[in-house]
Amino acid sequence: MEEIRSLKVINELGMHARAAGQIVGLASKYKAKLFLRKDAREVDGSSILSILSLACPKGSEIEARIVGKDVKKFMEELEGLFSAKFGETAGGHYRPKKKIMKGFPVSPGIVIGKAHHLDRSKTQISHRKLLNRKEVDGEIDRFKHAVDMAKEQLRKFKSNIPEQVEGYAFVLDTHSMILEDSLLLDSTLKRIRKEKINAGWALERSVNKIHRLFKEVEDDYIARRMDDVDSVSERVLRNLAGVQPDSLEGIKEEVIVVAHSLSPCDIVEINVSNVMGILTDVGSRTSHMAIMSEALEIPVVVGLESATDMILDSDLLIVDGNTGEVVINPDSDTIISYEDRKKRYNRYKSAIDRVRHLPAETVDGHKIKIQANIEFLAEARPAIESGAEGIGLYRTEYLYMIKSDFPDEQTLFDDYSQIARMIAPNPVTIRTLDIASDRMASDMQTTREDNPALGLRSIRFCLNERKVFRTQLRAILRASVYGKFRLMFPMVSGLGQFLEAKRILRGVMRSLDRNRIEYDREMPIGILIEIPSATSIADILAKHADFFSIGTNDLIQYALAIDRDNEQVAHLYEPFHPAVLRMIHQVVEAGNKEGIDVSLCGEIAGDPLSVLVLLSLGLKEFSMNIGSIPLIKEMIRMLPLRDVRDGLTGILGLPTSKKIEDFVLRRAKSLLPDMFEEDVFRYRPPGTA
Ligand code: PEP
Ligand code: MG
Repeated sequence: MEEIRSLKVINELGMHARAAGQIVGLASKYKAKLFLRKDAREVDGSSILSILSLACPKGSEIEARIVGKDVKKFMEELEGLFSAKFGETAGGHYRPKKKIMKGFPVSPGIVIGKAHHLDRSKTQISHRKLLNRKEVDGEIDRFKHAVDMAKEQLRKFKSNIPEQVEGYAFVLDTHSMILEDSLLLDSTLKRIRKEKINAGWALERSVNKIHRLFKEVEDDYIARRMDDVDSVSERVLRNLAGVQPDSLEGIKEEVIVVAHSLSPCDIVEINVSNVMGILTDVGSRTSHMAIMSEALEIPVVVGLESATDMILDSDLLIVDGNTGEVVINPDSDTIISYEDRKKRYNRYKSAIDRVRHLPAETVDGHKIKIQANIEFLAEARPAIESGAEGIGLYRTEYLYMIKSDFPDEQTLFDDYSQIARMIAPNPVTIRTLDIASDRMASDMQTTREDNPALGLRSIRFCLNERKVFRTQLRAILRASVYGKFRLMFPMVSGLGQFLEAKRILRGVMRSLDRNRIEYDREMPIGILIEIPSATSIADILAKHADFFSIGTNDLIQYALAIDRDNEQVAHLYEPFHPAVLRMIHQVVEAGNKEGIDVSLCGEIAGDPLSVLVLLSLGLKEFSMNIGSIPLIKEMIRMLPLRDVRDGLTGILGLPTSKKIEDFVLRRAKSLLPDMFEEDVFRYRPPGTA
């Protein structure tokens, strides 16, 4: 028997040793003889050296001839090797059979499915010198046209936005704003004119400059806005080059999308297709794409670095959006164990979903207040849907970071009044600007500080930049009549600062009175307690504040001298450090004594084990990451508060975090065995993975 077929070498590395070795290995399994021919030369397909001597780079056409037994099956397997690129990845590496990768989980859930690559590689641009005025004018027109097209595309995306992510339409608005920002638009036009270079090259240089500015920024959240700038510029570059992006629309089966990075526009498109999960090489928890996919309930793992290289189209994947684990081509035992995890997760999720709109009341009748921390207006709706009884922390930095100017009063007012309306009758605790001067888009070129965490930031910045501060306060006060606001000053380290901030606030109130503008005169004014000096004088501050909210993210950083963004010392960031717990306790006691509300809004408020500790320290109000709300509510509804307090007495006497954690975990397991014995979700506060 004889079988002859033409085969094409499609793998990046061509028919090199590895591929040739696989052919020889295959040939040895059959009682048949394989010959490979390229052009006029035919060689023995069972000899690795003969195959190599054919010199077949990618793109070569080869004729395979098999003579002997089982030729059809042999040929099919041979063809399979060629079409599977001999197991080589897109970037020309070889892939081991089963492989586990670890990234950052940004949207929970477990899925098992086939990989689908989405080409989001950067548009290649080359440098071209423009020869005369006419060419310059032509290039400027071309650039403006590409920008207009981008605006139109964004407008279309916005009008097609799926209901679940409607609230995120502002991301597309942000992209439109970036398109018009002078750092991008004007500077590119200037470069085309002055340096007489083509539009793509000029745009790339403007983007590089913005990259350099953002590089100085140490705040992950702000630095990530660079993703938005990149996505916008890529859109314009594609328009300039007349290239259509690889689309998701044509996908007919359910797949797990693998891409270098994805923009919010991709997510808008994704919803209409069969996307079970998403993996990207880059990205972070705070990227808009991450936030949106969580709203769509698509499990996502980002920051995998080489996912696009390691994963081939049609590889079988397991994506664990709870842990960040990705298994490529799992064996059957792994699949069975993940199927089981998936079932348990889905059961758990529907259980907590059922309780999210029920009150957070312990079995012995104590009401616990559960609110949400949010960073954009768009999160207000997901917050309500997750069962939050108001917003316990509205971080107001976003509008200050997206443009190169400070936002004006009207922009702030529009945002604040909308949020007030949406959350009413529940309260919104709105925090004044908490940002370092060198982290602000508008101020990026100011002097750098050696220790920004200890520098001119937050309330200190606001007390220095009175105009900026007053504008924000005016917008907050004006918006306060549309709902129920509580105003909170961050990073207060002493009484003088708080009184000064209140004095400025009163000045703004007087000016509103003069203009006969309404505002809520009863709006409570509180302090975000996040500096150890403030915890020490909590008794003094409590006499002047209407409420306290404890910000443990910073409190832990300042109390333990651990930079919260420095991975080198991450292991020393100990929420259960006895010093931290004593500080929290001191603030609760001081607040109780003066009869003011005390809540806690650090990340630990979303961690079940920590919440047990905090309940035992007397806290009854928590504000947390939206994703944690249903789980914490479920836990509270199963707890007798009395038993928590009785069980954890003595905790403040324990000497180390380790001892405290062991002690609490033991108690937790006996109080709620189902929750704390379960290893699937043994808990990781969101963002600390
Ligand atoms: C905190 O510091 O705990 C806090 C809630 O604020 P942020 O995380 O925004 O600093
Ligand atoms: Mg803080």
